[in-house]
This record gives sequence, structure tokens and C-alpha cells, in this order.
Amino acid sequence: MGFYLGIDFGTSGARAIVIDAKRQIQAERQLEFTESSDWSQCWQTTLFQLIEQIPVSLRRELSAIALNGTSSTVLLCDRSGNPITPPLLYNDARGRDTLEEIRAVAPPQQITLSATSSLAKLRWWYHHLQPADTPLYFLHQADWLAFQLHGKLGVSDYHNALKLGYDVENLCYPEWLEPLTAPFKLPQVLAPGTPVGEILPPMRDRFHFPPDCLVCAGTTDSIAAFLASGATSPGEAVTSLGSTLVIKLLSHTRIDEAASGIYSHRLGNLWLVGGASNTGGAVLRHFFSDVELAELSQQINPEQPSPLDYYPLLQPGDRFPINDPNLPPRLEPRPNNPVDFLQGLLEGIARIEALGYQRLQALGATPLTRVYTAGGGAKNLTWMRMRDRYLNVPVIPSPQTEAAYGSALLSYKNFS
Ligand code: ADP
Repeated sequence: MGFYLGIDFGTSGARAIVIDAKRQIQAERQLEFTESSDWSQCWQTTLFQLIEQIPVSLRRELSAIALNGTSSTVLLCDRSGNPITPPLLYNDARGRDTLEEIRAVAPPQQITLSATSSLAKLRWWYHHLQPADTPLYFLHQADWLAFQLHGKLGVSDYHNALKLGYDVENLCYPEWLEPLTAPFKLPQVLAPGTPVGEILPPMRDRFHFPPDCLVCAGTTDSIAAFLASGATSPGEAVTSLGSTLVIKLLSHTRIDEAASGIYSHRLGNLWLVGGASNTGGAVLRHFFSDVELAELSQQINPEQPSPLDYYPLLQPGDRFPINDPNLPPRLEPRPNNPVDFLQGLLEGIARIEALGYQRLQALGATPLTRVYTAGGGAKNLTWMRMRDRYLNVPVIPSPQTEAAYGSALLSYKNFS
């Protein structure tokens, strides 16, 4: 029986999940990153330590591996794949000064027009690195980590490459990008999950993998988390109720509205349309501990709507579903009873979620049929019932929420 390994590199650590051909989890391991001044070294060490923790009986029968990294975490490497400068992490906004030169040639609404985009980081390196006499490969975190296993330098996937400017509709780098990216070598872009190559012999021997174990093109952490839910049909969506509210809807049509933070990832012949609001669990945590949230929620009657009309934010401004940098938080009047206050907050967030899906559909996305839920708020069943009422479609917890599980599914798709 074959096994499939998904590895997730997140913001604070990495996780590995092995599934079997029935998609059942056979092993799960997790490691926190140690505080590091050398990120690429830390990632490589973590990758190898994680693999070592997987039972060798599973490793011996591994059919395929896929990896996901944080979106827009990027590296510059020499022709041997050695990083020549520290990586720039997902949230590094030093590329903000390059946006004017991108704006001068990129189409309006282009997703690269953000201070943290991969392209803005590439441009920052262009201005701040000494010219090198060796070709420099521009890679994403997931590309570089997979390279450690398959040894083919300069291969990426169209999820990671979106914020580099890759044209996911026509599956090519657009012409406008060329003058911005020279002299760097951009990765060849494959569909996520495409087999890139067999495991390198030294890796095979070190970790006891079979020689025909395939290493596949990866994805980003948030798409891997979406894949983990098992949503596959247009109209199915995943709401992530973490610190912020993030929604992703599988759609026949593509939607991009940069000003509202709405953009689309390609998913085979479909589109994964998403938006993120500043509301979410961070507002709940400002007023209540997790224990209080669980206890007070049980005292709420989800069938009885609250008269409060909140727009829960910690500071003014939202991008989606209402695009207004000055949008004021609406948290008044505040009732004395904490149960009533919490109900107002949960309903406020539920209304914003519903408005988000309405906005995506108003822009042409496939109508919503079902919402899976991930993140810290997913376990709140009272909230789920309220959201059910606002969304008018079944709302269910994601059976799996770990990005590593999504990547394992990605590596399995060639075999299913
Ligand atoms: P992130 O990874 O985005 O930081 P998590 O997915 O870990 O967030 O979720 C944490 C959030 O979940 C916190 O902001 C917290 O307020 C919220 N949360 C925790 N327990 C509950 C609950 N029972 N009901 C609603 N929200 C909850």
C-alpha cells in the first residue's frame, strides 16, 4: 500500500502528515522553528528532522511528497541552489518602494501591486544586491525545499508564482514582467501536484524512501488549508475563523478586484476566489478569553437574533467586503450582560461573512452551496448555527484543516 506525505511550512513551524490511499492519516509530526538568524538553514534542518520523525515503516512505502510554504516567502540562490542572501519572509514589506516601477508596466488590479508581493521583493533585491557573475535563481520557499528532495533547481507551481506576476489564465509569464525580472532566472511553473522528479538518491538512502518516490510541485499554505477541507465542487467554500475572517469560494469564474483584496487562484479548471476582512477572532480575544468564549457561547440561543448591529473591528478600516480604509468599528451600545455582548459580536462577524459571500457572488462567482469552517472559531457550534441562518446554506466544520493534510492530498491526486 502506498503512502503520501504532505509537509507544511507555516509562519512558526512545520508539520508533516502521512496519509494512505483512503486519505486516512497514518502519522502526523510537528516542529517549531528555533529562533534563527539563518532562515534557509533552519528550514532545511527542520525539513530533515521532520522526515526523520516519520516512522520508517511508512517512509519505506512512500509514493509521493508535496510541500507547501508561506506565500511570498522567497529566496535567491546560485546555480547550485545555495542561498546567496537571507530569504525575504511573507510579511516583509521592504518592497513598498518598488511599487511605482511595477505600476508603470503592470495592468491595473495586478496582484503584484502589494508591498509584500514576491515581485516587489524581487525588485528590492534588484536595487540592493551587488551584481553577481553567476545566474541567480529566484525561488519561493516551497520551491527551494522541494529542490532539497528532487534536486531540480528552478521549478515552482502556479499558486506560489501568482504573486510573482505569473499569468495563471494563460499559463505563462506575461510580457510586461520581463523587463522587471531580468537578470534573475524565474522558475518554470507547473500545476500544483505535478510530479517534478524522483527523490534524489542521497535523500532516498538517508531517509529510506523507495527509489520511485515522486516529489511533486507544491502550493501555498492557505491553499493547502483549503484543499484539506475536501471541498472540490464549484459553490463549496471554506471560511477561516482565525484572528481574521478569510473566505474562499470555489468558482467557475475568476474575480480580481485588488482594491477590495479579492483575487483568484487557479485550481485546475476552476478558480478559488477569496477575500479577507479585518474582523474576526482577534476582536473576540480582545474582550474574552477562549474559555469565556466557549462558556458564554453555550448560553446563547442561536435561533433568537440579537438586536445589536455591530461591525466588529479593533481599529477603523476594512478592505473586504466593505472597502473603506476609514470604516469605523461599530461596537455600541454595549449591554451589561456579557452573553448578550458576545452574541452581538458573533452575529456581527456572521453578517460580515455573509456579506463577503454575497459580494463575491455579485461580482460573478458561482453561487454558494456549502461552507466548511476552519480556524479557532470553527469549534463554536452556537456560532455555526447563527452563521447557518445568515448564509442559508449548510455550514459544517472542515473534517481536516491542516495545510499538511492538503499537501498530502495534492501528492496523492496523481494516484487516485
Ligand atoms: P490564527 O491562526 O489566525 O491566529 P486561530 O485559527 O488559532 O487563529 O484561532 C484563534 C482565534 O479563535 C482567536 O482569535 C480566538 O478569539 C478564536 N476562538 C477561540 N475559541 C473560540 C470559540 N470558542 N468561539 C469563537 N472563537 C474562538
